[in-house]
Amino acid sequence: MSSYPLLFQPLDLGFTQLKNRVIMGSMHTGLEEAEKGFERAAAYYGARARGGVGLIVTGGIMPNPESGSLHMTHSLETPEMEANHRLITDAVHKEGGKICMQILHEGRYAFNPKCVAPSPIAAPISPYTPEELTHEGVLGEINNFIKAAAFAKRAGYDGVEVMGSEGYFINEFLAPRTNHRTDQWGGSLENRMRLPVSVVEGIRENVGEDFIIIYRLSMLDLVEDGSPFSEVLVVGAAIEKAGANIINTGIGWHEARIPTIATSVPRSAFTWVSAKFKAQANIPVITSNRINSPEEAERVLKRGDADMISMARPFLADPEFVNKASENRADEINTCIGCNQACLDHLFEGKEASCLVNPWACRETEHIKTLTIHDASSALKIAVIGAGPAGLSFATEAASRGHKVSLFDAADKIGGQFNIAKQIPGKEEFYETLRYYNRQIELTGVELHLNTRVDSEQLNQAGFDHVVLATGVVPRTLNIAGNDRPNVLSYLDVLRDKKPVGKRVAIIGAGGIGFDVAEYLLHDNNASRSVDVAPEQQSVEDFTASWGIDRELVQPGSLMGKGKVQLSADRELFLLQRKVGKVGADLGKTTGWIHRSELLRHGVKMMNGLEYLSIDDEGLHLRNSAADSEASTDSVLAVDTIVICAGQEPLQELTEGLSVPYTLIGGANIAAGLDAKRAIKQGAELAASL
Ligand code: FAD
Ligand code: NAP
Ligand code: SF4
Repeated sequence: MSSYPLLFQPLDLGFTQLKNRVIMGSMHTGLEEAEKGFERAAAYYGARARGGVGLIVTGGIMPNPESGSLHMTHSLETPEMEANHRLITDAVHKEGGKICMQILHEGRYAFNPKCVAPSPIAAPISPYTPEELTHEGVLGEINNFIKAAAFAKRAGYDGVEVMGSEGYFINEFLAPRTNHRTDQWGGSLENRMRLPVSVVEGIRENVGEDFIIIYRLSMLDLVEDGSPFSEVLVVGAAIEKAGANIINTGIGWHEARIPTIATSVPRSAFTWVSAKFKAQANIPVITSNRINSPEEAERVLKRGDADMISMARPFLADPEFVNKASENRADEINTCIGCNQACLDHLFEGKEASCLVNPWACRETEHIKTLTIHDASSALKIAVIGAGPAGLSFATEAASRGHKVSLFDAADKIGGQFNIAKQIPGKEEFYETLRYYNRQIELTGVELHLNTRVDSEQLNQAGFDHVVLATGVVPRTLNIAGNDRPNVLSYLDVLRDKKPVGKRVAIIGAGGIGFDVAEYLLHDNNASRSVDVAPEQQSVEDFTASWGIDRELVQPGSLMGKGKVQLSADRELFLLQRKVGKVGADLGKTTGWIHRSELLRHGVKMMNGLEYLSIDDEGLHLRNSAADSEASTDSVLAVDTIVICAGQEPLQELTEGLSVPYTLIGGANIAAGLDAKRAIKQGAELAASL
């Protein structure tokens, strides 16, 4: 008997059946644009179909090249392109899966000087002002959607998803924010929804009844002059009548300044609005956003919030998610931690997507090529020193390939710096990665030695073929007068050792850890709480209130007071950096704004262009050269505690006197710019190369 009976109930659409309630949501990966991209995409989707997912939705495919961004132009509009897509549909069907192609027209979000939209209004996140479509132009775009759906059917897809959400082209027709037209495509709601309804009607007429049409409808625009929920309900009913089989509920336009999928968003934070929509829908409703475990998905279905659960990033993290859940092996799932570091951040940097916790994601063909399983004759006896992300990744990957691996850590638990990171409010998902690795250690037979500080002499004596040094980093200290005073702390003193911190605090260094320390100090973190048990995440009620989301659903775009809620804080914090640029400019592309906004809304003061001079009874003495004038000014920041978050140095002490062949990985290799993404990837790739 499955632990998730609702999740594993089939869904009957009349002409076809879905084997469970799990949808792999649409996500662009950059594969289609890569060399041999469609072969790679076929392997990527095929692996997820093999992993048991009920229905896959592809990343967005353009109805024509102008409707996409310059770096993302894969369209489906010729028979040659159809043949590429066949590779994908064949791979999925071979594994017993079903797949729909998402038709995405980016409208004014297209990073493309030729972009088009209902009205010539540039998006705040794009440099391009779109061209306003003529009446004939609108009809042409509708026709492009219909043609793309027809090609999708010929290419073997089981259906299409029409992307009508997230502030893209179709959504732009619906909202007064972006539709200022006065012809039959603008003005009244009836006119504004004419385009989405025509698209669905046209597709249905063309593809017949035995083809899935999912329509993704924005529930909460979360922008000023967005659609009110009363209009969303009317549009939903019309789309249903036009021939859609399923409604997928979308949350937030891309330009919204409210987080919707980042790790700090509580799990299933938006299913309440899908529930309000479902109450009046007659066709199945999908919900999504920050649902990353089968338990959470089952809870959402049990509450009756939706009929199906869409997860996208969780399938980058673990293609076997569904099979593991159905076989009661949920503790083996590699959980998506919502960090965006290797998926969305990569795409915004013009790179292919992958996954921080699963560096083989989108590299399935390469992974298969390296998959040698060693027997007794070729297996190596390997010692791994350090059970942080780098060491854990190497050890479990190497052991799963047949090597005999002993993993040592001086600490009483695995995880290295993740044990510190997991304590930051909003980073509770790191507990899941540690649970995953603990289970992998058991499954792969890694021999784990905790509370064991190792030295090079021991390693020389023990008969290992190879030693992997994953010993991590040491925090950088600050070389200024007064740095040895008791009120000068490192981030480890604060986060790991829980040393007392005053009410006015200067944080030196505004990298990821400086921001995290600020976040930690803003909240009342119960120092006596056991760090072995994950704390509760912020409640959905507190989250929506703190970001000004209108739970009553009466405001346009469901946004209260422009979404700018000022929050109180127990401490006065100063976040400092030497660079003259924006504080936090190096944070993740898709999450940095959230961290900055969170601290600013709590009144944290950010200062740049600083030189740190000394520390004494008065506080921290500074020289500020960021001011517009050429002269620099000296001042003293009267603070009672100074926390140093000025980066790290590699810990390489074990290399001295080591006579066994060794490799340095993670922070022990290079500390500058290190993050868990690099640590885990380096560990996995080294294991694959041995
Ligand atoms: P570590 O995690 O430092 O592990 C090294 C291990 O080696 C330790 O467990 C140590 O006990 C052990 N060790 C050292 N010497 C010996 C010895 N002689 N014998 C036995 N054991 C030894 N990264 C991200 O990508 N995203 C984030 O959001 C993020 N947030 C962070 C938040 C905070 C507050 C902190 C501190 C870090 C964060 N990081 C984040 C960084 C990330 O945790 C590190 O990049 C990662 O942990 C580095 O992994 P590692 O395996 O190289 O080293
Ligand atoms: P970091 O990002 O390199 O930041 C260190 C900061 O300290 C820099 O902003 C630097 O800014 C300052 N600094 C460096 N040397 C200094 C010196 N000698 N004196 C004074 N200031 C100095 O490193 P980190 O914050 O320690 O984070 C470590 C790694 O963990 C990072 O690579 C990061 O990616 C990762 N991490 C990621 C996240 C995340 O959310 N993605 C969160 C936490 C950590 P100035 O030189 O301008 O002062
Ligand atoms: Fe999830 Fe982070 Fe992997 Fe993206 S990179 S899929 S957010 S764990």
